[in-house]
Amino acid sequence: MKTVSPALLASFSTITAAFTSRLGGISKAPYTDANLAFHVGDNPEDVVKNHDLLADKLAYNRHSLIHMHQIHSDRIVIVDETLNFDTPPECDALITNRSNTPLMVMSADCTGILIYDPIHKAIGAVHAGRSGALNTILPKTIDAMNQTFGSHKEDLCIVLGPSIGGCCYEINETIASECEEKGYSCALRREDKKLFLDVNTILLMQLKRLGIEKIEVIQECTSCHHERYFSYRADKQHTGRIAGVIILR
Ligand SMILES: [Zn+2]
Repeated sequence: MKTVSPALLASFSTITAAFTSRLGGISKAPYTDANLAFHVGDNPEDVVKNHDLLADKLAYNRHSLIHMHQIHSDRIVIVDETLNFDTPPECDALITNRSNTPLMVMSADCTGILIYDPIHKAIGAVHAGRSGALNTILPKTIDAMNQTFGSHKEDLCIVLGPSIGGCCYEINETIASECEEKGYSCALRREDKKLFLDVNTILLMQLKRLGIEKIEVIQECTSCHHERYFSYRADKQHTGRIAGVIILR
């Protein structure tokens, strides 16, 4: 399976972190090739096989992987020994300080975010689309890591994975008004009579306000590059999911 390792996290021998692409799996159209989500209509046996390919590549036990039943919320779950691969919690962020417990966030245009605190040895995986970003799920997760593990925000290394860019994410006036009311006008772009939103701009503003500087953004737009990534919009909704994975060794 074809993956990208974010440079910001690659220097730490204490973790493994990667984002998948849609390449190198075994799913059939419209989920070609490397779909990792069970809820999109793909053959479950193919999805399990794709998970096994990824687990082999990143050297973890697939059964210990925790993924999420993502609901565009601001709900955060602290991962403990009660969870496993077959019991994805309903939430949009996972945090843990448990070793050999891979955390996974899935996406197809939304931003998957990986967080590492090298001082307190804690990790997080966050799903932020427009709704999650506007509901401040990322600052809330950072706060939860502080409350739970004592993580200091200035120590955190944060990577925003491949997502739809302001080049392609068209929105309506109602959503644009909500963004303006919440102080995110600079994430909006008007072109002729169309409106576009760049969700990563919102996320980066939130991180900047917290004084967080160790940030990497994987800039590729999933819609522009839907031959390489799943894109809910470019693929007309019938598509698979890529993933971000982080593992504390
Ligand atoms: Zn684009």
